[in-house]
Amino acid sequence: SSTTEVIATAVSTTEARVDTPPVVVDVRGLRKSFGSHEVLRGVDLQVRAGEVTVVLGPSGSGKSTLLRSINHLEKVDAGYVRIDDELIGYRQVGDRLHELRERDVLRQRARIGFVFQQFNLFPHLTVVENLVEAPVSVLGRPRDEARELALALLDRVGLREKADAYPRRLSGGQQQRVAIARALALEPKVLLFDEPTSALDPELVGEVLDVVKDLARSGTTMIVVTHEIGFAREVADIVVFMDGGQILEQGPPAEVLDDPQHPRTQAFLSKVL
Ligand code: ADP
Ligand code: MG
Repeated sequence: SSTTEVIATAVSTTEARVDTPPVVVDVRGLRKSFGSHEVLRGVDLQVRAGEVTVVLGPSGSGKSTLLRSINHLEKVDAGYVRIDDELIGYRQVGDRLHELRERDVLRQRARIGFVFQQFNLFPHLTVVENLVEAPVSVLGRPRDEARELALALLDRVGLREKADAYPRRLSGGQQQRVAIARALALEPKVLLFDEPTSALDPELVGEVLDVVKDLARSGTTMIVVTHEIGFAREVADIVVFMDGGQILEQGPPAEVLDDPQHPRTQAFLSKVL
């Protein structure tokens, strides 16, 4: 019942204050230029275990570049990313950083789930094969085991009956739910979402956000780039506002969304709300 949920929330909130969860994602001083255009201008961000951070900001503010830098799809010019205390993309020797080999980067990236705007499912693989592929090939999991986990995850996103279908037979919302299950199949330390509902017809947005909300309730650590303010208000522990390659403001939704301090946050919110 809703009463139980309220009490459970109150208890977990109290616990979180008493015993602060560890930092899972630690982003420090990230800078990235494309040519002469500096797209990230010193970004610091910490996300703790079980927290949901929602990143808002106008188009071109650097949100996708930030997410792509976190899993080393972009190589930054300065700063670093640690996930669970592990440096991403580099190995530290003394005070120098050496770039990791591609296969080591792939192994790190496997534990950083990434859900794209455009689903990016493998079209030539069935739904369940989409989930089995990376755990077997990247993490060396036994195929039977990977398949069992895959079916359980499809169940979780409400798509077990589509296990043997090909992605093109699914609606956009269903494809995105499969993409989320595929990311979960690698048992990621954090899930990154880059505008996961922006490519969907409006009537399909809800089913995808419901899956993300379910993950949030079960304590999945997530960074979600989205323009869905209602979702941010309901689900975010921390809302981050980015503009011009910098984080201008961050805090709980009640602060950033309802009482923004920076004029550019105010201007952005007055347009999207
Ligand atoms: P957002 O996701 O907030 O819309 P992006 O991170 O995609 O912003 O882009 C930030 C800026 O960086 C934009 O001006 C974009 O044109 C530029 N940019 C992104 N990727 C590249 C790239 N590979 N080469 C050149 N410019 C890029
Ligand atoms: Mg983007």
